[in-house]
Amino acid sequence: MELPQFNPTPGNDSASAADHQLNDSVARIRVLVGDITSLDPSLGIDAIVNAANESLLGGGGVDGAIHRAAGLELRKHNQTLGGCPTGLAKGTPAFGLEKQGIQHIFHTVGPIWPPEDQSEQEQAAMVPGAPIDDSAKLGYTYADTLLASCYMQVFALAVQHNIEHLAIPAISTGVYRFPKPRAARIAFGHAHGHLLRAEIPNKITFVCFSEQDAAYYHDAINTRGQWMVSRGRI
Ligand code: ADP
Repeated sequence: MELPQFNPTPGNDSASAADHQLNDSVARIRVLVGDITSLDPSLGIDAIVNAANESLLGGGGVDGAIHRAAGLELRKHNQTLGGCPTGLAKGTPAFGLEKQGIQHIFHTVGPIWPPEDQSEQEQAAMVPGAPIDDSAKLGYTYADTLLASCYMQVFALAVQHNIEHLAIPAISTGVYRFPKPRAARIAFGHAHGHLLRAEIPNKITFVCFSEQDAAYYHDAINTRGQWMVSRGRI
């Protein structure tokens, strides 16, 4: 699914240069609906992210799908890694996924929702569809910080491995129950922030398992002017 293009408004030279930079970094982000283990090789995706658990030995959801596609060699390899704490990431070869052009898997462990430091009232404000009010500001909970850390960690691995095109599922939004609209904002916000500063990876594709999940990303992107204001960059 293609994103609408960002249309910079005419302005003075420095504003236009900033707009151009924003336009460029948003244009390097795509949202696709599909299975991250059977992406079209013509997309040129050379690394995928796994929403793993702390054991790194496989589980349900996208983790199970990636382990099935990569094969037992991945599990054997991961037995040597000693697990991975929540909010961090570790890279491995892609094993059985290499025939699809994927060279690396970056395993990251997202936070479980609801966070322990949150009242029931605050939780109610953060379920999908609830209005985003002050108590629901991004970064308000430790879980936000941990999810943000997952994205920053996988972008650091992408730079380290000189990745051209990175595919990322909606970390923490399945079994770990992170509110999807909130997770989409964190995912897009950090991808956009990284691409503003870095040339690697060249492209980031968010792979969603349903049209509805993709709609949360499109909404996050289309409304970025409202919720990214505090950073001064939209
Ligand atoms: P977590 O434990 O981090 O919540 P899950 O695998 O349960 O991880 O879910 C994370 C997201 O991945 C969910 O939005 C889920 O719908 C999605 N998902 C599950 N299987 C796949 C797949 N094969 N490809 C892409 N996304 C997937």
